[in-house]
Amino acid sequence: MTFTCNICSAQNHVEHFVTEPATCGCGSNVRLRALIHLLSMELFGVSLTIPEFPRLKSIRGIGMTDKECIAERLADKFDYTNTHYDREPRLDVTIPHPELAGSCDFILSADVLEHIAPPVDSAMEEMCRLLKPNGFLGVTIYCHPSDQMREHFPDLHEFRVVPLGDTNVLVNRRRDGTLEVRDRLIFHGGSGSTLEMREFGLTALRQKLTGAGFRDIHLLTENIPQHGIVFDADVSQPLIARKERFALGGAARTELIDLWRRQAAQIELAGHSRWMKLGKTLGVGPQF
Ligand SMILES: [Zn+2]
Repeated sequence: MTFTCNICSAQNHVEHFVTEPATCGCGSNVRLRALIHLLSMELFGVSLTIPEFPRLKSIRGIGMTDKECIAERLADKFDYTNTHYDREPRLDVTIPHPELAGSCDFILSADVLEHIAPPVDSAMEEMCRLLKPNGFLGVTIYCHPSDQMREHFPDLHEFRVVPLGDTNVLVNRRRDGTLEVRDRLIFHGGSGSTLEMREFGLTALRQKLTGAGFRDIHLLTENIPQHGIVFDADVSQPLIARKERFALGGAARTELIDLWRRQAAQIELAGHSRWMKLGKTLGVGPQF
């Protein structure tokens, strides 16, 4: 199968799609490309590759430890900051950030929600608070096919992961002061900060996002083979959690219309370009 990576624009050929490993030289996999597809659809109403995204510095986005292959490209296009839990620029959504409330057009949370210390509900509420009234959250997360939600450490309070023999164990002091030690920890990516705290089921994920203040959960259910997005039996399909439906703000709209006019004027083939579709979604029309 031949596809164009919607992150770096490279043409690729693969025999089979596998979920996790990268299937493009830029490091993207199916889930990441699906997330970028959703981001593009939500922002522009058409599926553009990141290199085709208009540069709109009035759109503010936050990544939560996004992979470098999308982080550096999104930072070029938007007022986008990739944040980290354990280093600068730091963002810990388990604590409130009133100074950032209502400031973001989008937040991307790719394979992060399973690693946030409980309760994950308040972290989701904080993400919702950080978004503008019509901002949105883009999520990828593994959901168990059984649809069961499993919270591994519901009583987590003061805790540390410590080496013991050949493995790591989690030592936790519960709120009531009692100690617990937990074995057989699951790490993603191999470091202590990527401890798996829970496993989602889709029903619980929807409920929690809705409970956190998101009004509409849109799951990507179709394949987009031309962008290398083919899910097979994967149950980690990305979703957009919306507040009010996204609309470009006045500043972004002005930036976009200016850019569209300049580029469309240059491209005589505008009729064949995705920029043309973009112009239509903006109501700019074919006359410019
Ligand atoms: Zn790529």
